[in-house]
Amino acid sequence: MKLYENQSLKIYNSLSGEKEVFSPIHDGNVGMYVCGPTVYSNVHLGNVRTFMSFDVIFRYFLHLGYKVRYVRNITDAGHLENDAEVGEDRIAKKARLEQLEPMEIVQRYTVDFHTILHKLNFLPPSIEPTATGHIIEQQEIIQKIIDNGFAYESNGSVYFDVVKFNETNHYGKLSGRNIEDMIANTRDLDGVSDKKNPQDFALWKKAEPQHIMRWPSPWGVGFPGWHLECTAMSTKYLGETFDIHGGGMDLKFPHHECEIAQNEACTGHSPVKFWMHANMLILNGKKMAKSTGNYILPNEIFTGENTILSKAFSPNVTRFFMLQAHYRSVLDFSNDAILASEKGFNRLMEGMELLDKLIPSSVSTLSIAEWKKSCYEAMNDDFNTPILIAQLFEGIRYINLVNDGKETLTANDLSELKTSLKNFIHDVLGISNEQEESQHADKLEGVVNLMIQMRNEARANKNFALSDQIRDQLLALGIQLKDGKEGTTFSVN
Ligand code: AMP
Ligand code: ZN
Repeated sequence: MKLYENQSLKIYNSLSGEKEVFSPIHDGNVGMYVCGPTVYSNVHLGNVRTFMSFDVIFRYFLHLGYKVRYVRNITDAGHLENDAEVGEDRIAKKARLEQLEPMEIVQRYTVDFHTILHKLNFLPPSIEPTATGHIIEQQEIIQKIIDNGFAYESNGSVYFDVVKFNETNHYGKLSGRNIEDMIANTRDLDGVSDKKNPQDFALWKKAEPQHIMRWPSPWGVGFPGWHLECTAMSTKYLGETFDIHGGGMDLKFPHHECEIAQNEACTGHSPVKFWMHANMLILNGKKMAKSTGNYILPNEIFTGENTILSKAFSPNVTRFFMLQAHYRSVLDFSNDAILASEKGFNRLMEGMELLDKLIPSSVSTLSIAEWKKSCYEAMNDDFNTPILIAQLFEGIRYINLVNDGKETLTANDLSELKTSLKNFIHDVLGISNEQEESQHADKLEGVVNLMIQMRNEARANKNFALSDQIRDQLLALGIQLKDGKEGTTFSVN
């Protein structure tokens, strides 16, 4: 029996504005799509917060025993400088400024994104598709939308006809915007009269001669509109209707509103059962954003090289800090806030170390089953990580009480407490097990030092074939020996 069969998970659906009981479209399977980064610069901590919210959601589904297909894309074309579809493509602009190929920019910042997420102990998604890898699929969707009468070609570009769509559908149902207000408030920012209505959005944009990211299409040489890639990639890998679509709150409009419109115009039905939006990370009272310079990079936190913090903080503490807020609340980043998180994190880790030393009794005076139930209730209530963390501290309080001889636990309950704490801390919240990692590092050091000793003996016996073999095979494993005056040391690559 899978864990999810005993749990009733509620998720806040941005579309209905209510928490709804989650039941997947296909029993035991979850399909989840999250808008990924536009890889034209290093991800800042704000971006990371949104991705971390969905990493924990992914982890919790896995913990419950679901089979999850988690798709998180890489936007490597089509995202213009301004979301109102004016300006250069963000990647093309960076490539022009740095005199690099656009794909060099894409590669550099995709690698950065993966490195940061790896440091923060993220699980990789099941599929990480790119916009440029799905140009054909995007063109097919455009053709269907044209055929269904909701898009029109104009001067080499194709636009989605928002007004026509709204006659039979509801444009604005996710963001709560009203089309009349939009019409009253939109200016035609690019000043070009290609569009029938200023609020129409591009499905395909004609590439001007200087635009370097360009593809042939039935409508001429151009590039896809930003919103289209997510429709193409989500439906390709998850089907025309899937369980969850997520992203940051700032993507609700226009990006996700346009996605819904594209899907409905193409297939006749809404793509997603649960729309989920993560709230913003705030710095100095304002949204953290690259464009305003109001941001901090994860590496600046890990090294302490920044002007905001008094010291460096580990990836685990950074992760713990973010998860102490609910994903739908805004979170203020500051030196004081992360310092307080570090204290809490250390208390949690000390409690875990103490747990190994507790002596079992013949009776339990605390109910571990009740405590465990409250941990699940927290996560089942729209992934409420701050409440879960409060429950984990309650578990640590139990440990201290037992250690002080004020309460007792049986061996079974102690083992249950330990397993549950580990499951929630490491598997669900994704805090890496530093204790285990440092034990592994100690063991590795012991083994390599033993090999160095054996190599020294081989050399002393003039058995150079063996000493070279030890050196070369260690090197092949990524362990480099360095002979110096003080003896032999090693480094792990
Ligand atoms: P982008 O690379 O601009 O497409 O953004 C990647 C993700 O980061 C999107 O889901 C954004 O909503 C999210 N994001 C951007 N700024 C913040 C912020 N300050 N706090 C939380 N999420 C953010
Ligand atoms: Zn998207």
